[in-house]
Amino acid sequence: MSAQLRIDLDRLRGNVRVVRERVAPAELMIVVKDDAYGHGLERVVATAAAAGVRWIGAFDVPTGVRARRAAGEHARIFSWLTVEHDEIAEALAAGLELGVGDEDYLERIAANARANPAVVHLKIDTGLHRNGVRAERWPAFTSRAAELERAGAIRVAGIWTHIAEASDAEDDASRAEFDAAVETARAAGLRPEVRHLAASAASWERAEFRYDLVRVGAFCYGIRSADGPDLPGIAPAASLVAQVESVGDGAVTIDLGALDGLPTTLAGRVTVGTPAGSRRLLEVGPATSRVAAWPGAAAGDEVVLFGPGVRGESSATTLGEAIGTVGEEPVLRVSPLVPRVSVSPPANR
Ligand SMILES: *Cc1c(COP(=O)(O)O)cnc(C)c1O
Repeated sequence: MSAQLRIDLDRLRGNVRVVRERVAPAELMIVVKDDAYGHGLERVVATAAAAGVRWIGAFDVPTGVRARRAAGEHARIFSWLTVEHDEIAEALAAGLELGVGDEDYLERIAANARANPAVVHLKIDTGLHRNGVRAERWPAFTSRAAELERAGAIRVAGIWTHIAEASDAEDDASRAEFDAAVETARAAGLRPEVRHLAASAASWERAEFRYDLVRVGAFCYGIRSADGPDLPGIAPAASLVAQVESVGDGAVTIDLGALDGLPTTLAGRVTVGTPAGSRRLLEVGPATSRVAAWPGAAAGDEVVLFGPGVRGESSATTLGEAIGTVGEEPVLRVSPLVPRVSVSPPANR
């Protein structure tokens, strides 16, 4: 197979710079779950850390441990999946900061703290009901956390929540609950360094949601929101590229298909990039696909399935929109067997 998922590290750096400038004085935590949204965790973390990003958002502990290796000892790595004893010990040994939205989890973490206090960020549920301590239990939770902090078992570095980013009104209500929760935590004697609740969309659009820190994944990779606007200065970092195998009947056959993760439902619905500009994607077969031909098309020519648009291709989000999903989906679906290739070296490495 000649297909590649090319990761342009200059574009990644450019996106990170634009997001950081936009949210300042709040700080950026770059979110790297799902192997950095399919872009390859190590290259993304190393690039972001070299560009001066201090905070990495890692979701689970194995991702956090990998991020620690790639980012070095000074990075602050936040991991928010609730886990059991073995993984807590591993997380604390790697110096991860743990997101805690559950009373029992706080006790398990405190029980695993050794020489140094475990660093935690307490999560209030502000309406999403996925994880987080409900408002009615929050006063007891924060006073228990203060007690564990005084005992030297934990240090509460942050207060956080996750918001729906579905409607401004809901998000405003979540933010009011969040402010009240921070007040309650302060009254309990906690002095969190950072408050964080916004992901890509809210941190971009709404200054009052930035607080001290924003957790941004999608926009750092150049993935705009489905049905959302283009973003000035932000461009897709990943391009999915395949080669022409053969030409005939007004179409070219490329060596990339459904088995490589290309959604079959894209056929007939989108255009892709070619040496002659945009052409329609006609058919997605298991191992190959067909694209409308252009004058002079030849075996070995490159076709871009999604990317920043330099050869007339659509963005991953435009592909997602064509099949009723989000822009992360076409990137995450690319088979792990398709090689990921960096197309510019990380700075300072
Ligand atoms: C995935 C995730 C983010 C980042 O979301 P984007 O929309 O990709 O910026 C932030 N916070 C949490 C808790 C997440 O799970």
